[in-house]
Amino acid sequence: MTKTEKEKETMSSALIATSCLTWSPVVAVAMVIIAQYRLIVNMFKQIFCEVLETSVCPVCQETLKPRDSRWRIWCEEGHDVFWIKVRRLYCKHCRRLHTELPDCLSPYKHYTSETIEGVLDGVVTPHAEQSESYPCEATMERWKQWLAHNYLFIEGFLRMIGFDVYRLVKTF
Ligand SMILES: [Zn+2]
Repeated sequence: MTKTEKEKETMSSALIATSCLTWSPVVAVAMVIIAQYRLIVNMFKQIFCEVLETSVCPVCQETLKPRDSRWRIWCEEGHDVFWIKVRRLYCKHCRRLHTELPDCLSPYKHYTSETIEGVLDGVVTPHAEQSESYPCEATMERWKQWLAHNYLFIEGFLRMIGFDVYRLVKTF
């Protein structure tokens, strides 16, 4: 894998990380992404997420308490549509609500993270053999424009994580 390919892969993964926080003028709404879970699908195309980890508030690091849940759409390649029940969590410390998402989904996107990464990494293109199974060309273009528009922000975000969390000092 060339350096450019590696950078693209890192950038598409960062799409998921940086879009977790969306700040509105009145209330900060953040999503909590979880990595340890089990998905259970029933015959009605409903997916239930059994959470196997404790979520903490991304704002103040307090342990979150479940408040309620809601249905969220889940689009698979081939335009197969499922519904997943996601939890809404409440932080008693900063009094914010957070939606909990499994890491196979991206905030505010109907398609799975895998599909979005495939498009941003150039693996999935509108001209591919099975392109009718993927999102429309306009959607793919919109994702690419979002990545291009946020490239510098994402790079800075990844560097910050590298320095603050992993104590990396080597420049990429
Ligand atoms: Zn909090």
